[in-house]
Amino acid sequence: MSLSTTSLQTAIFGATLPLFQDLYQTCSSSDHQPRTFSFLVVQSAVSSVACAAVFLMARISYLKAYKGKTLPRGYTKFNKALPVQGREQECIRDSFKERKIPTDLDVIVIGSGISGLYLAASLARVGKKVLVLEQHYVAGGCTHVFEDKGWEFDTGLHYVGRGSKYGKLLELMSTGKDKADLVQLGSKANGYCYDEIYVADRPPHYYRRGQDVHIRDLVKRFPKYEKEITKYYELCVKVNASADPYVFGKLFSWLTKSLVYLFAADRFFKYASKTLSQVFDELHIDNLELRAILAGQFGDYGLPPSQASFFIHAGVVCHYMKEGKHEEPTFNTYI
Ligand SMILES: Cc1cc2nc3c(=O)[nH]c(=O)nc-3n(C[C@H](O)[C@H](O)[C@H](O)COP(=O)(O)OP(=O)(O)OC[C@H]3O[C@@H](n4cnc5c(N)ncnc54)[C@H](O)[C@@H]3O)c2cc1C
Repeated sequence: MSLSTTSLQTAIFGATLPLFQDLYQTCSSSDHQPRTFSFLVVQSAVSSVACAAVFLMARISYLKAYKGKTLPRGYTKFNKALPVQGREQECIRDSFKERKIPTDLDVIVIGSGISGLYLAASLARVGKKVLVLEQHYVAGGCTHVFEDKGWEFDTGLHYVGRGSKYGKLLELMSTGKDKADLVQLGSKANGYCYDEIYVADRPPHYYRRGQDVHIRDLVKRFPKYEKEITKYYELCVKVNASADPYVFGKLFSWLTKSLVYLFAADRFFKYASKTLSQVFDELHIDNLELRAILAGQFGDYGLPPSQASFFIHAGVVCHYMKEGKHEEPTFNTYI
């Protein structure tokens, strides 16, 4: 039987079929010559790849057919219940008393930041009884907002990128009158600007959505640096994508993880340990104003270019820059 025929069979029936076939033929007929070990290895490898391809195609077709119609495993339609009955303000200032703790809890979440609340809401949705404990007298963690002398201050979250992707997560947990919407930052008039960078007394620079827009705006301002600016953005995108194999590798045992890291995550390790200043130097970006503008989002990670990891910087740049063309805005950013 030819290699391709058996491979097709095993793609349907399983990668071990050629081994059993061979064993059966060897046992049942005295003149049958057992296949060589290398033949069997190649055959099993080809069969396994064929199996994986068939499985993948079936999975993709299934996901396409049921797109938007499936629910997470274990999902149950939930009835929202407030923790205490009373005025809304009392609900978010429900002080801790040991006697209030129910005895039949499934999970206790410590901390009521966005992560804790999201986790608690997800668990509640799949039917778990959850208690969230917070040390502060108001829930919310870094999503707090407070006012001082007529100014409003956000303690943490100001904007999020890639709204059409992450907005779906928000939609899962916010419903009815509590529905949280993502709003596009900026306006058509300013090209959907999401960050304004001010360097000394120079005119401000506007970060608007889309890689091509970023390059065009900067080249307009620094025409001599067209090549360097283009290279810089290409590198940001590549380095940002290099996190995928790094995170993927974490799913496996140390051996598989080491192989994934060895063969697929070298860019991640290289640029995670380089600073933004080092990358500017390597790309010959020596204009101080251009460097300052490119580093202008440093507030998002809080370190100057001489200390900031280029990987983190590239992540922030791409997080906000991505998402379609600015001419056709869907939601991108949230305030
Ligand atoms: C100044 C600033 C600006 C930011 N801007 C953005 C932005 O624009 N976009 C963006 O995407 N992200 C931004 N971030 C990051 C984002 O706000 C945080 O990543 C996110 O809010 C963290 O959520 P969290 O739930 O993990 O933690 P937190 O919001 O820090 O919540 C942790 C909670 O746990 C409580 N807690 C801790 N220990 C205990 C304990 N032992 N017992 C009880 N309670 C406890 C704390 O009081 C707190 O309420 C910003 C952060 C900061 C600080």
